[in-house]
Amino acid sequence: MKTISIVIHGGAGTLRKGMMTPKKETAYKTALQLALDSGYSVLKTGGTAVDAVEKAVTVLEDSYLFNAGKGSVFTADETHEMDASIMDGNSLNAGAVSLISGIKNPVSLARDVMEKSEHVFLAGVGAMEFAKKHNYKLKDDTYFYDELRHQQWLEIKDTDNFQLDHSLKKDSKFGTVGAVACDSNGNIAAATSTGGMTNKRFGRVGDSPMIGSGNYANNKTCAVSCTGSGEYFIRGVVAYDVACLIEHKGMNLVEASDEVINKRILEIGGDGGLIAVDTNGNIAMPFNTEGMYRACKSSTGKEEISIYK
Ligand code: ASP
Repeated sequence: MKTISIVIHGGAGTLRKGMMTPKKETAYKTALQLALDSGYSVLKTGGTAVDAVEKAVTVLEDSYLFNAGKGSVFTADETHEMDASIMDGNSLNAGAVSLISGIKNPVSLARDVMEKSEHVFLAGVGAMEFAKKHNYKLKDDTYFYDELRHQQWLEIKDTDNFQLDHSLKKDSKFGTVGAVACDSNGNIAAATSTGGMTNKRFGRVGDSPMIGSGNYANNKTCAVSCTGSGEYFIRGVVAYDVACLIEHKGMNLVEASDEVINKRILEIGGDGGLIAVDTNGNIAMPFNTEGMYRACKSSTGKEEISIYK
């Protein structure tokens, strides 16, 4: 049987040891473990990479700890606008949604766009119409509300500032989420989901739902999910850049991921990280920030849950 593996992330940023209470650190690790195990058991029972990444991301979206689904950050209008994407490396099918509200699991809506529409990317009112057509029940604002996120927003509301959860203070939390997986047939997939940036306005959309920037999968090369300063990740076409370095420069997964995160994106001013797998189940999880919530598990026996460098 081929190597199966899954990698997940819960965001990258200013995460220094000692910044978080031990209790909080345990809560994050427990949430990561739950998402990791849920995705891995899909792979172990013969499920596809697409099923596994969707499963892992929904578990992370359901946790208030991360900036995706429940616990998403606040926009300038004190609302939540979420973005998500998913890509199947075998068929190159992809689905993405942005500027959606009230949807418990944005990644599942992205998957429905991939599988039940002729399109790849639906946004705003149209995406919500699509959700309605596919019988999504909307959650009210209280479901997404989180005290800490609200506090972060109160501190910068009525200013022109918008903030990545990346430049945070002591004991704050952040975390776009993502998953990449390689299944027992050697197919790979990637999924990413986020609430974006605190106090964002003007319909701001980051890299997370953009195929090629925050998310990409192709059996020929790799599956990638990113987290970081979205504006830079869009300009760096980061996820696709990793695939290009593998395809055109002959780099391996770890070399290509490292080159993009620790060189190319840094050179244009971007900070963050990514997770990646290839069809041999190899894993990469580089980041150029102080920490990244991350975890991986593979049938080779490798298992890791980490936060700091
Ligand atoms: N990349 C996301 C965005 O710009 C944010 C993040 O990764 O935390 O929307």
